[in-house]
Amino acid sequence: DSSRLRYKRVVLKLSGESLADSGGRGISGQEMSAIAKQIKQAHASGCQIAIVVGGGNILRGAQFSGSNALVQEATAHYMGMLATVINSLAMQDALEAMGLATRVMSAVPMDKIAETFIRRRAIRHLTKGRIIILAAGMGNPFVTTDTAAAQRALEIDADVVLKATRVDGVYSDDPEKNPHAVLYDSLSFQDVTSKQLRVMDATAIALCQEHGTPILVFNFKKDGSIIRAINGETVGTWIGR
Ligand code: UDP
Repeated sequence: DSSRLRYKRVVLKLSGESLADSGGRGISGQEMSAIAKQIKQAHASGCQIAIVVGGGNILRGAQFSGSNALVQEATAHYMGMLATVINSLAMQDALEAMGLATRVMSAVPMDKIAETFIRRRAIRHLTKGRIIILAAGMGNPFVTTDTAAAQRALEIDADVVLKATRVDGVYSDDPEKNPHAVLYDSLSFQDVTSKQLRVMDATAIALCQEHGTPILVFNFKKDGSIIRAINGETVGTWIGR
């Protein structure tokens, strides 16, 4: 019964690492099909889903330019955007293998490979029940796909940004280094900024804060967590006004 759904339209941000094996590099069929299975379940409940895929399993611009003096930072960011396109194409086939209808829409026009992102067309796909996979971030260097997730959420009027991570939510400190780190159930945008919590990049937080779009940070590895998140169940850390 889709009328009981808490969220009717969501942006699901998947980091590049979520498509990789535990080392965090490359693309793993097993990881992708586990995610695709969850997305299929969430979609079956009637939710419209736009996926923003990162590229960190292949290349992150800032990191890469830091260790390769020959490549300018802006160039490296464009390389990172192409990495998100590679991941988006893989994710598309993983979803279609489950019988879902999808479209990849790229912020950078590449008409042999994907549609170009056009806001009204994106919304049309969603209302027709297609899952859209948004590739190439915003098409601009010096930002990340977190910013793209927030920006696209505003553009398509999504109810929430679902940030799927490998940890259970937002902690007071790095839980892998500090055993006393506590997991927050909910936070305000102001808390995130004042406590300097590392949730998403600052631009993404600022966009969501200004427009009141909540962010849910949760562990996609826990079985059924994506559908639970979409149903508005208590999962991970909720960030809102
Ligand atoms: N990127 C960019 N503009 C965008 C989105 C991404 O320049 O709008 C580049 C940036 O270098 C980034 C890389 O693409 O580091 C991969 O994306 P991201 O780091 O967000 O991937 P994730 O960490 O989510 O896997």
